[in-house]
Amino acid sequence: MIKVRINEVNYEVPPNLTILAASRFIGVEIPTLCYIPGLEAIGGCRLCVVEVTGARSLVTACSTPVTENMEIFTNSSRVRECRRTTLDLLLSNHDKNCFSCSKYGMCEFRTLCAEYGLEETSYPADEPLKPLDTSNRFFVRDPNKCILCEKCVRVCKEWQGHGAIWLSSRGYKTEVTPAFKVSAQDSECVSCGTCLTVCPTGSIYPKELHLGSDMSFEKIETVCPYCGVGCKLNLHVKSNKVISVSPANGPANHNLLCVKGRFAYNFINHKDRLKTPFIRKRGKLIPATWDEALDKIKKAYIKIDTEYKKKLFISENCAEKISEFNNQSNSIDNKYKNNVNNDLANNINNSFKNNINGDVDNKLANYKNILNIDTLKDGSPFAGLSSAKCTNEENYLFQKMMRSVFKTNHVDHCARLCHAPTVAGLAMSFGSGAMTNSISEISDMDVIFILGSNTTETHPVIASKMRQAKQKGAIIIVAEPRRIDLCREADIFLQIEPGSNVALLNGLMKAVLEEGLEDKSFITDRTEGFKELTEMLETITVEACADICRVSADDIRAAARTFAKGDKAGVFYAMGVTQHSSGTEGVLSVANFAMLCGKIGKSGCGVNPLRGQNNVQGASDMGAVPTDLPGYQKVAVDSNIQKFEEAWNTKLPKFKGKTVTEIMDEILLEEIRFLFIMGENPMVSDPDLTHAEEALRNTEFLVVADIFMTETAALADVVLPAASFAEKEGTFTNTERRVQLLNKAISSPGESKEDREIIQEIVNAIGGNWNYSSSSQIMDEIASLVPIYGGISYDRLKGANKNYGLQWPCPSLNHSGTKILHTSSFTRGKGKFIPCVYKSPAETSSVEYPFILTTGRILYQYHTRTMTSKSEGIEEIAGKNFVEMNPSTATKYNISQGEMISIFSERGEIEVNVRITSKVKEHILFMPFHYAESAANVLTGANLDPISKIPEYKVSAVGIRKIN
Ligand code: SF4
Repeated sequence: MIKVRINEVNYEVPPNLTILAASRFIGVEIPTLCYIPGLEAIGGCRLCVVEVTGARSLVTACSTPVTENMEIFTNSSRVRECRRTTLDLLLSNHDKNCFSCSKYGMCEFRTLCAEYGLEETSYPADEPLKPLDTSNRFFVRDPNKCILCEKCVRVCKEWQGHGAIWLSSRGYKTEVTPAFKVSAQDSECVSCGTCLTVCPTGSIYPKELHLGSDMSFEKIETVCPYCGVGCKLNLHVKSNKVISVSPANGPANHNLLCVKGRFAYNFINHKDRLKTPFIRKRGKLIPATWDEALDKIKKAYIKIDTEYKKKLFISENCAEKISEFNNQSNSIDNKYKNNVNNDLANNINNSFKNNINGDVDNKLANYKNILNIDTLKDGSPFAGLSSAKCTNEENYLFQKMMRSVFKTNHVDHCARLCHAPTVAGLAMSFGSGAMTNSISEISDMDVIFILGSNTTETHPVIASKMRQAKQKGAIIIVAEPRRIDLCREADIFLQIEPGSNVALLNGLMKAVLEEGLEDKSFITDRTEGFKELTEMLETITVEACADICRVSADDIRAAARTFAKGDKAGVFYAMGVTQHSSGTEGVLSVANFAMLCGKIGKSGCGVNPLRGQNNVQGASDMGAVPTDLPGYQKVAVDSNIQKFEEAWNTKLPKFKGKTVTEIMDEILLEEIRFLFIMGENPMVSDPDLTHAEEALRNTEFLVVADIFMTETAALADVVLPAASFAEKEGTFTNTERRVQLLNKAISSPGESKEDREIIQEIVNAIGGNWNYSSSSQIMDEIASLVPIYGGISYDRLKGANKNYGLQWPCPSLNHSGTKILHTSSFTRGKGKFIPCVYKSPAETSSVEYPFILTTGRILYQYHTRTMTSKSEGIEEIAGKNFVEMNPSTATKYNISQGEMISIFSERGEIEVNVRITSKVKEHILFMPFHYAESAANVLTGANLDPISKIPEYKVSAVGIRKIN
């Protein structure tokens, strides 16, 4: 600590601080208009000037370091006079009409002017007003209120890594504009709103913020409901409405948000929110009371449960008679086949049937206790799809309901369709299927290898951290079938073929071994299976791998060398790796590559799967999957079943549950008859949609809980109105395993309820007796049963860990959570090399289907658009689907930009607009999957990865046709 004297009081402050930081350290405020915490000070606005004894002139506090025994005056008359003059000059160049400014009351500049007694400028200028740039859908740029503090320019470049705006022109004409003074709409701006957040005046203001005459509003900190980054944000609430959003300083986002988190909040108070339950009557969904809806669910449950038990009873007790019937029936069919006498055959058959049914009925009549028939060892007619949009507590209750009340393991959720191979593959290699490192490490990494992830569009804030690393000198390697946005930052770009990940990773490993760059001590001390890996790699060459990927072997070698030599080198991957029929092998190969180079268990390294939805990590953690009880405790292990049976005081099913895609198949086989879907929309997100739609339409009893009448809800027998993330307390677990608290900001509309309440009401309607009164009570139960969540409690998340949450594993209340996994040993002990031989995708192009369609997400929409489509700005930018096509392909087929064409696969055909771009190669097409109209998933197939059962969304053979 060093001694300083500030405003005639002696203090001790840490060394190496600026005067501004030292003053803030002791609680003395100094005004600034251009200072941005964390970025280099530029001393541009001159508002932070202070007087230092002995200095010839005033100094800027933001850029002057404190020294031992420095004497500082932060508010002397000389200082105040100087600040007042500066403000006066700034005001001379500022639009005077503050009362009409939408930032009125929140403008830092105006507040300072008032504090320094400035109503009007002493230097009035008579310049004509400059035109506003209103072209951005979410905010307006007003040059007349700009004080050229450069904050917007700097955060755009240095935080977000975009550099979409600059200071253009010089001297008096200096202005903040996009490059070449194009409008915001035509610029590279991605509407993240960071410029808006830091603007200290009304020069950048949101279009939708209307505070009215009462300018007060409440600010509630919570977590973004969109992607797995888990950005913290503030909901600005007025009269039970969310009127705007601002970023919070969360551990994953550090004051950044993307366009969805910042502006796509209109769904919360949207008029179309479900406000009452609906039940289907005479084919139509009509509004109903909760009692009516629950009663309908109860009746369907009893009917299907009883019939299922009867079926089991019959198959177990009347096998002899049934077999007699079948034999007799076959012999009659044979005898009268060739249509000689069908009626006679049917009559005889029916008389046998009646005879046997009578016999079965007699047995049933004598069996009084049919409801006690043990259904735990067989399949079940009940299934449930949980939700990666809902909280941990709700997912925990959902799977508990399915297992302990409906007695089924047929429970799954959309993780099956995005990162099931990650959970399976990393569990096999490391013992734990999650991101090994943390988001905060990214900006300090040396080598970032991005594989199968269009990070700028799918995890925008993580992409910003990658760009920050690039600005500090990191090397970026991108391997992707499309020339994605991050290729502009990439030092090495490998434009690989869809489905060639395993070949690429094998080629990289082969190149590492050829150059002797493997981490020998890591391999010896921390791993097993290296011999098997090298034996497999001996059978291949880098050149052969390069041929499969259609990239150069030299580029593979350069990438391998760069990664292996990097000190802080890590892999980031997403669904470009997992959504393949070899998805698990892709993940295993990523793990092999990282272990070979010794990049596990260290800061800035790791295998980092980027999880899709906001709480897809948590939904998996909570056991919303057929194979695992909460905390990845396997259903197949008897002691796990026993543990949960004791805790839940009931018997649990042990049979193997079905996955999302298998559930659809089982519905069509009439094996599954009752499906409860909580907050998912498989009518848009499932592969081979025609098949999925047929299944959902044929589900005997379908219950959907959601916040809107989605495409799936519209097919349901009962629809239950749910609360949104803004209307509930709970926790989400982000992609880096961080459990963060949601705070309830407003009450939910009409009669809608939190999903945890909905689940409890259903359980109690069908005979249960659950009494959960809060999410924190559920978290306590989770902590008692799930070792990796053992130390997580609401007391901690609201108290000492309020700002950071807790990263699992967090096994006890005095554990501070785990930033990096596998530091000294892997969860399974030693990391296991599991060699994988490249297999081509299930579908390849042919004469009839000459193109490979690959699907994915875009920046502006989310998942099935249930929420993002409610934002007009988002819809204006990205309201329609498109297919990306290479210019040569377009020329060959005589297709022009924006033309509507037909795309067809073996499974269906859609019409969609063409976007001509060299992002894709000639034989590749790309389509986002978000849109129900012209849904990409009509074309995709359910070619499953045999281990994780994920469908191969990323490779579908398709043909194209001009419509006219
Ligand atoms: Fe929300 Fe993800 Fe955007 Fe962050 S990056 S604001 S979590 S959508």
